[in-house]
Amino acid sequence: MKKGKYTKTQDPTGWGDSTKLIRGGLTRSEFGETAEALYLTSGYVYDDPESAERRFSGEEEGYVYGRYGNPTVTMLEERFRMLEGAEAAYAVASGMAACWGSLACQLKSGDHIVASKSLFGSNYQILTVILPRFGITATLVDGNDLSAWKAAIRPETKILFFETPSNPLLEVLDIEAISDIAHKAGAQVVIDNVFATPLLQKPMELGADIVFYSNTKHTDGQGRVFGGMILSTAKFKEELLKPFLRHTGPTLSPFNAWVLLKGLETMKLRVNASSHSAEYLANSLDGMPSIERVYYPHHDTHPQVRLAKKQMKLGGTMVSFDVKGGKEGAFNLLRRLRIIDISNNLGDSKSLITHPATTTHKNIGPEARALMGISDGCLRLSVGLEDASDLLADLKQAMAVNS
Ligand SMILES: *Cc1c(COP(=O)(O)O)cnc(C)c1O
Repeated sequence: MKKGKYTKTQDPTGWGDSTKLIRGGLTRSEFGETAEALYLTSGYVYDDPESAERRFSGEEEGYVYGRYGNPTVTMLEERFRMLEGAEAAYAVASGMAACWGSLACQLKSGDHIVASKSLFGSNYQILTVILPRFGITATLVDGNDLSAWKAAIRPETKILFFETPSNPLLEVLDIEAISDIAHKAGAQVVIDNVFATPLLQKPMELGADIVFYSNTKHTDGQGRVFGGMILSTAKFKEELLKPFLRHTGPTLSPFNAWVLLKGLETMKLRVNASSHSAEYLANSLDGMPSIERVYYPHHDTHPQVRLAKKQMKLGGTMVSFDVKGGKEGAFNLLRRLRIIDISNNLGDSKSLITHPATTTHKNIGPEARALMGISDGCLRLSVGLEDASDLLADLKQAMAVNS
């Protein structure tokens, strides 16, 4: 779309995150609508056959097919790209499409990955079950042991992969140090930044090469749509991501892109508010009689609290804790909750709580759970936008019988 008329030329240099979230990537049609337009179309038409020919050859700029691009999706990509401070962004249908795309587009049989063992369940499945079927293997290491990363690297290692904070125990890994190790070995760093969001942590500034998100979480933040995003260099997007994703089909729906654009407008307000409530809850839960241990990146008892404060603006919207009495203790607490919903989703305006050992981390089995340190009494709380005092009261009344 031509700049001018209703679309301003954008120079985000010096813009803060809030301005990028509201204005980034905004283009307007000839009608001058205030809000982002939803272009719900799968295809495009051409004035004449020569124009179609030119578009397909790349001589003429423009869209050719919904699987290749859409103006609403482009707005979302551009907004996200500015927020992350990346050269390029590619929107896909879900967080897992983003994980799969960022790995599969560049790997081939014989390649090797080193990954932190604290992984989201589906990331774990891709690395340990799906990729090995294509001859691509992964070595899992204790992410905080830098010598373990170094020792696991082989000549065929192409990628170092991790989440920080991790799911569900909110382990915090040193992005700068691990990126340094990767680059010395000629490998790339791929980071799942879902828990931190691009507002609290900017991995590329610390050396990460590829960052991906589930936009299903904090970007929508209101439990409605799926989406994913991959941030990379322009070269990586053009040479590897585009050819892979265009033809394998994890296309983001323009409708979802439009919902996510509106989600981004309020994301900073939501993430900041939830993070403040999460910190308050972590502080309040610590030391309560039925709580064995609290996990929160900016909490004093967190083993990497100094790193977390250096790397993340706030401690994030997630709090995990071990309840006394194992699975039974955890289930008793869940059953009695009156406000907080039992749900494995996260990053929502509604507070949601899950028991990882029987839900998100059930499939990986008891051995892998033990390796990751996920106990049967562990609960993972995604803090929403309700009054923090009401959330604390809900947890307290649910614990009353346990203690
Ligand atoms: C939810 C989630 C994903 C996957 O995202 P979907 O949108 O559900 O596909 C990946 N990583 C983390 C850390 C997540 O929480």
